[in-house]
Amino acid sequence: MTTSPTCGLPAQIVLLFTRGMLCLLVLSDCWCSTIPAAYSRSVQELFEKAQASDTRPIFVRTIPPGLQRYQGRTIDEVDRIEITVMAGVSRDYDDALLAHELFHVILNSKGFAGGGAAMPSASGSRDAEIDKALNDLVSVLNSRFPDELIDREMVTIHLKPRVLLDTGVEQTMKVASAFGRNEGESWPLAAKNGQAVVMFCLAKRIPESTMRLLEGKMRFGLGSSILDRESKLIARFQGRRCQINQPEACYHLTLQLRDAAGLKGLIQMRNPKTHVFE
Ligand SMILES: [Zn+2]
Repeated sequence: MTTSPTCGLPAQIVLLFTRGMLCLLVLSDCWCSTIPAAYSRSVQELFEKAQASDTRPIFVRTIPPGLQRYQGRTIDEVDRIEITVMAGVSRDYDDALLAHELFHVILNSKGFAGGGAAMPSASGSRDAEIDKALNDLVSVLNSRFPDELIDREMVTIHLKPRVLLDTGVEQTMKVASAFGRNEGESWPLAAKNGQAVVMFCLAKRIPESTMRLLEGKMRFGLGSSILDRESKLIARFQGRRCQINQPEACYHLTLQLRDAAGLKGLIQMRNPKTHVFE
């Protein structure tokens, strides 16, 4: 399985970056509680809807493309919601990206995701990097089913989720090409399982032919066991998706995904309704 407990995690984190889950940058102070007029009317309306859904003010920061490896992210603070998005790519892209993050705010206010955390290690000796990767996986797990729901919701208001996914695939291909042969095979089990979840999340949102192409590229560096795990998740959750009026069912699907991915005991999810960690 593995020779070193941290081996592979940095690479995994790089992959997570490409999915828009992480940020290494120090936040600058250019947050705005309004959004630029360049965004389309439907995004402006979505912003108003998102703001009305939560008592905390929403602050949006737009950053130029290419500065970092995530596309957009939303952070829940106690007293505010912070959204960071790349902007200046194209009208379709900018609209889709901010809309995606605003949908997360709206869905979270309905009880779709309640956060979570890495379980404290029994011995207290877990590597800090593993802890960090597990905490990042919480976002991946919480986003998996809602992201696919958001894609469907966006289409109904004439926005184009495909432009975001195309960028995600492109970035993942780039990262994959930097792996050495079978590098993933030496990763610790938690990293393999986490990477399988990341791949599974993308697989459910892009055309099958694109995913096959991506898997083909990644097989060289990841090896086959991670892709086998991904295939098992795909088979296990075939046809399962979240519906906009069923937040509780969506959360339970997320719990099932965590368990099926072998991450139970490592990651605890926070029940959005009861706020209990489970
Ligand atoms: Zn998302």
